Amino acid sequence: MPKRSVTEADVRGKRALVRVDFNVPLRDGEVADDTRIRAALPTIQFLLDRGAAVVLATHLGRPKGKADPAYSVAPVARRLSELLGRPVATVNVVVGAEAERAVNALRPGDVLLLENTRFEPGEETNDPQLATGLARLGDLFVNDAFGAAHRAHASTVGVANLLPAYAGLLLEREETALSRLLDNPERPFVAVLGGAKVSDKLAVLEHLLDHVDALLLGGGMANTVLLAQGHQIGSSLAEPDRLEEARRLIEGVKERGVLMAVPSDVVIAESLESTETNVAPVAEIPVDQAIFDIGPETVARFCQQIAGARTVFWNGPMGVFEREPFANGTLGIARCVAEAGAYTVVGGGDSLAAIEVAGVAERIDHISTGGGASLEYLEGRVLPGIAALAGA
Ligand code: ADP
Ligand code: MG
Repeated sequence: MPKRSVTEADVRGKRALVRVDFNVPLRDGEVADDTRIRAALPTIQFLLDRGAAVVLATHLGRPKGKADPAYSVAPVARRLSELLGRPVATVNVVVGAEAERAVNALRPGDVLLLENTRFEPGEETNDPQLATGLARLGDLFVNDAFGAAHRAHASTVGVANLLPAYAGLLLEREETALSRLLDNPERPFVAVLGGAKVSDKLAVLEHLLDHVDALLLGGGMANTVLLAQGHQIGSSLAEPDRLEEARRLIEGVKERGVLMAVPSDVVIAESLESTETNVAPVAEIPVDQAIFDIGPETVARFCQQIAGARTVFWNGPMGVFEREPFANGTLGIARCVAEAGAYTVVGGGDSLAAIEVAGVAERIDHISTGGGASLEYLEGRVLPGIAALAGA
């Protein structure tokens, strides 16, 4: 059944309970990066403009089911208020009498941010009682938390089954962008995968095999594949217990006629702290050295593929870009993706940071705010938060 969009909802004079993903990094009691808050503004503004009162729910960090001041949403409310240019009320609870009183006091155009949903032990277990408590705080439910859509929690799935439920604008935009990768992408479709979380990403790679024309691998991802191909990679980061999956990937690539490229040259050093770094062919890595970036020849090879693509998906840095001697590969790829004449999508927290460092964020077609959720979507899985919106 198709989802209903918030644009189809009759919201005037109603209280809209909106699940957002305000799981932002905090520093010294303030929001360190407000990207996720800004991403939800269109939906909030849309509802306010149409005469709704907005009740916002989010999780923040991992407070493990009990109230913990370190994870209070108070700093988020302050930042949101600045961005919206209007007051944002807060309560010290997620559900219950106090929350209901605060909601009942709202008038059209008012905004209330509930306390961290993960202060409630029933959030992550999708407890029906918590879902019922949440449902009492709105006349309708809008899910705009794409970044939490892969979790079947009380505030994402439970409550969606109890109220008229709609997809928010951000959630729709994310889904549209990601589905464009899986459903009839313009070809050639090139996926660039790197980063450290190899075990998380192998399933994505396997699923993408059925969709892409080329796979370009860097970072820890490439190291594990190099290992599976029989290369000696010294003390490089890799996941040797994933060799079986890596071999399956290599087989799958062959069977489908997909081009898979791994680094041909790499930047190596004894450790991340070493002042001495070298570029070496991938076949000549000393046992006491580690790969920390892809080399210039590899950047050029990958960029040639990216330049010829019509669709590009990138997740995962090509090296330890946080450190200058090992940033060239990642920043080089960021620039090539930005310059490509293709439809370009970038996902993953660290990949987004790299895009920012490279200063090319405006030239990427879609930057996904949902790391884990976008990867699960690309694994071909149905995200429970999205499924719960269909015909509820
Ligand atoms: P994302 O957040 O974009 O999904 P990951 O979290 O999987 O990406 O991986 C990002 C991390 O991978 C970065 O902190 C980067 O330093 C690290 N990394 C990339 N290549 C290497 C490498 N060759 N060795 C060690 N760490 C690496
Ligand atoms: Mg990361």
